[in-house]
Amino acid sequence: AAFSSLTDKLSSAFKHLKSKGKLSESDIDGTIREIRRALLDADVALSVVRSFTARIRERALGTEVSQSLNPVQQVVKIVNEELTDVLGAGVDRPLNFAKNPPTIIMLAGLQGAGKTTLAGKLGYWLKDSGHTPLLVAADLQRPNAVTQLQVVGERAGVPVYAPEKGVQSDGGEDVTVPGMTTGDPVKVARDAVELAKQKLYDTVIIDTAGRLGVDEELMKQARDIRDAVQPNEILFVIDAMIGQDAVQTAKAFDEGVDFTGVVLSKLDGDARGGAALSVASVTGKPILFTSTGEGLKDFEVFHPDRMASRILDMGDIMTLIEQAQKQFDEEEARKAAEKLSEGSFGLDDFLDQLQQVRKLGPMKNLLGMIPGMAAHRKELEQFDEREVDRTEAIIRSMTPAERRDPSIIDGSRRRRIAFGSGVTVSQVNALLQRFEQAAKMMKRVSNNNGGGLPGFGGP
Ligand code: GDP
Repeated sequence: AAFSSLTDKLSSAFKHLKSKGKLSESDIDGTIREIRRALLDADVALSVVRSFTARIRERALGTEVSQSLNPVQQVVKIVNEELTDVLGAGVDRPLNFAKNPPTIIMLAGLQGAGKTTLAGKLGYWLKDSGHTPLLVAADLQRPNAVTQLQVVGERAGVPVYAPEKGVQSDGGEDVTVPGMTTGDPVKVARDAVELAKQKLYDTVIIDTAGRLGVDEELMKQARDIRDAVQPNEILFVIDAMIGQDAVQTAKAFDEGVDFTGVVLSKLDGDARGGAALSVASVTGKPILFTSTGEGLKDFEVFHPDRMASRILDMGDIMTLIEQAQKQFDEEEARKAAEKLSEGSFGLDDFLDQLQQVRKLGPMKNLLGMIPGMAAHRKELEQFDEREVDRTEAIIRSMTPAERRDPSIIDGSRRRRIAFGSGVTVSQVNALLQRFEQAAKMMKRVSNNNGGGLPGFGGP
């Protein structure tokens, strides 16, 4: 995942420090050298690395460390604060909605940056939070861009405004060109905003054309669309994998269209993360979202402090809790907690809980938000989602009575369940055993607390 090698290197820089009691100037310089190398290896822009390490050095040599009871921890805290700053702490803000809808969001960026994919995710996210978005296909350059947006829109359940396929609408009379989408992207954007006003869509997301490199014609088209519809947000989408080119590309788009916010895409890949760590600080524009995969839900609101904690392997419990709150039904959770304390929590309840947790996304991503888990990355990467599938299959092969009261599952029932779910009897035994232990433990815990949340204990 992105940042993993940066995280490792930073951890090791701190580990070297931790073996010291008092910190000398040369200890601090050694650590700063390591941090510097880690950042450069992660493709962070040199100018950013320089100012970042200079600030850390100045603070680390100052009184807040020398007078601290725990100087090493103090240094880590300083790095955390400065990293948060680099990621845009000063400019951090949520998406800007128009006072009078529709809110107009325009996407800009190079071809392949992930704009079309993001349009779908953003639309899905907005819809999920009660908005009525409209996606607009104003990328009339790339073959299939319109179709791609239509596919994405359909998947997200968000309507798409697209020009008629094959109709050339800018030359006065319409000319049909088979298999091709032509037309004037500025007109498409303008018409879409009109449509949104009439049909009361409250947000309009405009996908624009990108090119393989920055060029003036591309910028002009984006500017023309911008000037025609006056967006509330112009989001610059940047592929986190582009490394050292990030700064130049971001600067070019900043000058070209004066974007208002940044979206980092492909943070799930092998991106070394340099773009993330450079763009906010170089442009002074906030990072609003990150895109972390090809699925509609692989999308997160960006928070500099949380990202800094994740990079330093201090975890991101806030995001985890928010995702959980969105998915978990409170009433259901309360009922489950009650059952737990009564000792009547059955495998059917367990299956429900398991499915709720799975709605949060791949287990790997969830576990990655827990502090200190970076050290277990190898195991996480090997985490087998199919193990969870198997658990589900086993429970599904049980009768309702068996799920409610697993104690009735004798040898012949075990064989039937194993056969039904395509696993071995010992796999069924293992699940039952783990469930029994977990149930016992839960009962103890919840008796002590007089209730409480059901455990997220894995299979
Ligand atoms: P556009 O040209 O800017 O519209 O870029 P697309 O949305 O077509 O994305 C280009 C490619 O990157 C497609 O194959 C997408 O599936 C892929 N992609 C987009 N966002 C992500 C992401 O966050 N993670 C990964 N792994 N792939 C992505």
